[in-house]
Amino acid sequence: MAKYKLEYIWLDGYTPVPNLRGKTQIKEFESFPTLEQLPLWGFDGSSTMQAEGRSSDCVLKPVAVYPDGARTNGALVMCEVMMPDGVTPHSTNKRATILDDAGAWFGFEHEYFMYKDGRPLGFPAAGYPAPQGPYYTGVGYSNVGSVAREIVEKHLDLCLFAGINHEGINAEVAKGEWEFQIFGKGSKKAADEMWMARYLLQRLTESYGIDIEYHCKPLGDTDWNGSGMHANFSTEYMRTVGGKAYFEAMMKAFEKNLMDHITVYGPDNDKRLTGKHETAPWNKFSYGVADRGASVRVPHSFVKGDAYKGYLEDRRPNSQGDPYAIASQILKTIAEVPTAKASAAA
Ligand code: ADP
Ligand code: MN
Ligand code: MN
Ligand code: MN
Repeated sequence: MAKYKLEYIWLDGYTPVPNLRGKTQIKEFESFPTLEQLPLWGFDGSSTMQAEGRSSDCVLKPVAVYPDGARTNGALVMCEVMMPDGVTPHSTNKRATILDDAGAWFGFEHEYFMYKDGRPLGFPAAGYPAPQGPYYTGVGYSNVGSVAREIVEKHLDLCLFAGINHEGINAEVAKGEWEFQIFGKGSKKAADEMWMARYLLQRLTESYGIDIEYHCKPLGDTDWNGSGMHANFSTEYMRTVGGKAYFEAMMKAFEKNLMDHITVYGPDNDKRLTGKHETAPWNKFSYGVADRGASVRVPHSFVKGDAYKGYLEDRRPNSQGDPYAIASQILKTIAEVPTAKASAAA
């Protein structure tokens, strides 16, 4: 038997952007605990915008567990927030709204800034550093500074240790801005891992006096790059059947549901999706092959041989978006599109 440090992690009820919360309980297990072995737990919802003061208990239901590379015998336990009955999802629980679909795959590309002393890491105390150009995928002290790479490397190792399917990293267009990608098979997997990766990043940077700035346009209306969280997605039907007619019907559904998507794609997206800097205007849906100025970019691989099969990239979600809410809305819209099988049956 060993004593395990279980960090129960959940999303609070702040709007429009939930915060990560976590607390530790110690429990004994023979070996690293499985999800089934992890008990429900509770917290005071009145301190997290999830309950009124008088009857404030909310329930934490473990939904995924990962080894914690920063702690001996540590486990990171992703939780859904439930009502006191333990079975009804709390209204802030967006994960519970994602359709169960083992054949749905998501790949999120998360851009973010590291901030120190109220400005992007590497920015001078007053004014700006040299203009954008050399920072994207750059190397060398004047491009990436002296600690950023150490942090992203440690973050990568923590993610890999946890079993998170981190797919890659790059320095981004603005100084102090970075990206990582996470891919997952199953409608909730990449979103779970994205929230856990955010947790690991925020916890890691504490000791550096660095905060992660998720705002999609932290430097305001300037040429300094914003931060997105492109959502690449596919369903089994898209990958194996697809076809031009289905694709076009899907894009119609995306157009019709424009506002439902924008609502969950992160706040202040009108400041980022301006039509400039490889973005499409937020209030007009568009798509195009290899078009980084469209709402949805259609990869060459998708249209190859007129197959219209594979994955698509919705470029609108931003870095403050909740991947649970994003995955949920994308699958909801796709579910509105009749498949050939369904129309044949009708
Ligand atoms: P770019 O920066 O050119 O948009 P990236 O390589 O950063 O491209 O991101 C592409 C993302 O697409 C990756 O996260 C990858 O996992 C994801 N992806 C690739 N194939 C699929 C698929 N079939 N379904 C869903 N996502 C996919
Ligand atoms: Mn990318
Ligand atoms: Mn990028
Ligand atoms: Mn992309």
